[in-house]
Amino acid sequence: MDWKDAVSEIITQPSSRIRFSEPLAKHTHFGIGGEATAYIEVSTMSELAALARFHKQWDVPVAIIGRGSNLLVSDTGFKGISIRLVGALAKLEINGNVISVGAGLSLPRLSKTMSRHGLSGLEFALGIPGSVGGALIMNAGAWGSSFGDVVRNVTVMDDSGELITLTHDEARFEYRHSSLDTYFCVTGATLALESGDVDTITERMQTLFKQKTETQPFVEENAGCMFKNPPDDSAGRLIDISGLKGYRIGGAEVSTVHGNFILNIDNATAEDVLKLVAYIQEQVREKTGISLQTEVKRLGFD
Ligand SMILES: Cc1cc2nc3c(=O)[nH]c(=O)nc-3n(C[C@H](O)[C@H](O)[C@H](O)COP(=O)(O)OP(=O)(O)OC[C@H]3O[C@@H](n4cnc5c(N)ncnc54)[C@H](O)[C@@H]3O)c2cc1C
Repeated sequence: MDWKDAVSEIITQPSSRIRFSEPLAKHTHFGIGGEATAYIEVSTMSELAALARFHKQWDVPVAIIGRGSNLLVSDTGFKGISIRLVGALAKLEINGNVISVGAGLSLPRLSKTMSRHGLSGLEFALGIPGSVGGALIMNAGAWGSSFGDVVRNVTVMDDSGELITLTHDEARFEYRHSSLDTYFCVTGATLALESGDVDTITERMQTLFKQKTETQPFVEENAGCMFKNPPDDSAGRLIDISGLKGYRIGGAEVSTVHGNFILNIDNATAEDVLKLVAYIQEQVREKTGISLQTEVKRLGFD
């Protein structure tokens, strides 16, 4: 049996779906990238476990994608199955100040819901357009806070479809990094937030959001910060002093608002973006002696 027929048999729930030759540009904030051989929105833990076992048995490449807000997909696409968690895998339960959240839930939605319940700790997250799974993998953060700060434990699935609960320390949260990408999939987390005043929390969340939209590009397609900040410095500052704001290759341009953002301003290809990344790294190294490392994840490149 062809693997495509075999994988189709796993997806049986009405809220799950499978498509073949799906353009991944549609599922990334960059709006760039070729097709995935198969694209699955999976809504139940049992289907996800079956996909894990399928991946192991058939040896077909699998990539879990969240909201695609930190992702550059190759122009030739991804020869494998890309999986997005929806439905029961994006659920939210609130018990006092302890929150149980599925990896598929949107981070801005989580941030807003927490503020409405007078729970503090995720005010920084309204302006980060990812999923909880992506925020756990990346330890997403802003304004001195990171997602890992509020995590009590994380649930991951291994490639036998078994769920494993990891403590905060076992997840090894670091600056824009965790150890969670060694598992088949991150399925959710338990968070501990601080109880507080709804109005104060909401005001802080809105203030941080406003500051972000005033200092970073929000309208054009992009993937957030392209480079990690070097210790005690800012990648945006280094790109700015290297005179690269507004520099363009093909359809990709360094934002004039914030140098650490590369924008897809005119049907940019992944190749345009990577050429621009290489040019920025070369120029910044020449002018400042600092080597910038990319923060954005790549999919479908050999
Ligand atoms: C306008 C804009 C502003 C941004 N601002 C910020 C910011 O202030 N701070 C910040 O840290 N980031 C920021 N980002 C980047 C991005 O939103 C974060 O990195 C976010 O956490 C990525 O989540 P995602 O769901 O979109 O992940 P994706 O981009 O879909 O994936 C990122 C990586 O995580 C993996 N992954 C995702 N979900 C799972 C899962 N459930 N299990 C296993 N692996 C998974 C993917 O395979 C990939 O390797 C910004 C992006 C944009 C477009």
